[in-house]
Amino acid sequence: MKAGNILYLSLKLTNRCNLKCAMCGQIFSPERSSKEELELAAINKILDEASFVKQVYLFGGETLLYSRLLECWSCYRTEM
Ligand code: SF4
Repeated sequence: MKAGNILYLSLKLTNRCNLKCAMCGQIFSPERSSKEELELAAINKILDEASFVKQVYLFGGETLLYSRLLECWSCYRTEM
């Protein structure tokens, strides 16, 4: 991954969500209840390769349902 013009990264941690916001397309998604998540090792690899990026957005689904959110947050915070 090269720096180029990349300003930020968006990482979709999970499709899971426990809400049903009216405006959200996610609620109709068959993946909504999926237990699949972005693996922490993959996140770390991406962040290592994109260390030049100043902003990383974590989203989902409901990001707070991501099982390894604190670990994810901790890994990134130590790199700053
Ligand atoms: S993914 Fe976000 S917007 Fe969609 S239902 Fe869940 S909380 Fe609401």
